[in-house]
Amino acid sequence: MRAVVLQSPGSLEIVDRDIPRPHRGEVLVRIKATGICSTDLMVYQGRQPVTMPIVPGHEGAGVVEAVGEGVVGFQLGDPVIAEGSWGCQICAACQGGREPLCPNRVSQGRTRDGTFAEFLVAPTRGLHMIPRDLDFGIAQALISVACSVRAMRRGRPEFGDSVAIFGPGIAGLILSQLAHDNGASGVTMFGTRDWRLDMAANLGADETINVRQDGWMERARSLTNDQGFDVVFETSGDPNALSDAFELVKTGGRIVVFSVYEDVIDAFPAQLLYRKEVSVIGVRGGAGGYPLAIDLVRAGRVQLDPLVTHRLPLDEAQEGFRLMERRDEGVQRIALLP
Ligand SMILES: [Zn+2]
Ligand SMILES: [Zn+2]
Repeated sequence: MRAVVLQSPGSLEIVDRDIPRPHRGEVLVRIKATGICSTDLMVYQGRQPVTMPIVPGHEGAGVVEAVGEGVVGFQLGDPVIAEGSWGCQICAACQGGREPLCPNRVSQGRTRDGTFAEFLVAPTRGLHMIPRDLDFGIAQALISVACSVRAMRRGRPEFGDSVAIFGPGIAGLILSQLAHDNGASGVTMFGTRDWRLDMAANLGADETINVRQDGWMERARSLTNDQGFDVVFETSGDPNALSDAFELVKTGGRIVVFSVYEDVIDAFPAQLLYRKEVSVIGVRGGAGGYPLAIDLVRAGRVQLDPLVTHRLPLDEAQEGFRLMERRDEGVQRIALLP
């Protein structure tokens, strides 16, 4: 099979590999589409602690090509998505139902070879059936929906809450749809690029604010009559946005941190944490969010079509990363098609 291998930061190679064989409880998936997520970009740029060479990618959809011994519930030809990572099932975290916190977690494209290949072996506990009529180029983004479902469950905005989201990337744009659908009194999207904010406006955000414009903070405050937002989701990965979240959250409100920050954040607004009694909630991965994510997309309650802006052959993975690095207008999710 063909696989994309990251040899060193920024250097990809297309290699020929043996097709892996599924062991007991595992399934061989023929990958039909795999997305380039911002986490993959960090791996590609060497900004994540990953041992190379490695096959990147953790958001993949495809069909069951072969099943290992003892597999039930999956048959040849079934359309599936593979979870981005999975727990060991035996540690205290896994046993206690907190699988995302498993210290032995297997993460595709980070601790083991990932989805940028023609085939992938995954355990059935990390696989989900998807609707037969769902396009694979769209289905790969279900992993991002599952993560957003988990962010909603962690942040639990209530009916009528005001919601702010920093970062109109794919996660932020899914969250704005979920928050709107959940009965938020208003969803305000904050970003730095107008075309992405326009996308947000088309996908359920009631207000959009470009934080590069003068007076944006005052405008944001006025949207809630200076009360602040009940729940703020920080998905941009920008430490400044985290500080801004503390400024804009309501007293007693919640900040959901759904970002990977690279460095130590030294301008943490600790005074506001105390003064406003803010709850800060971390989110890692989408474990447990997959069945609902699939149902929401099947029912048309989360629009993914506008978010998948590019489709490239798998061999052009390097071009895909370049497109993301250049931050060109119109680039959101890039799907690679083996
Ligand atoms: Zn991802
Ligand atoms: Zn575990």
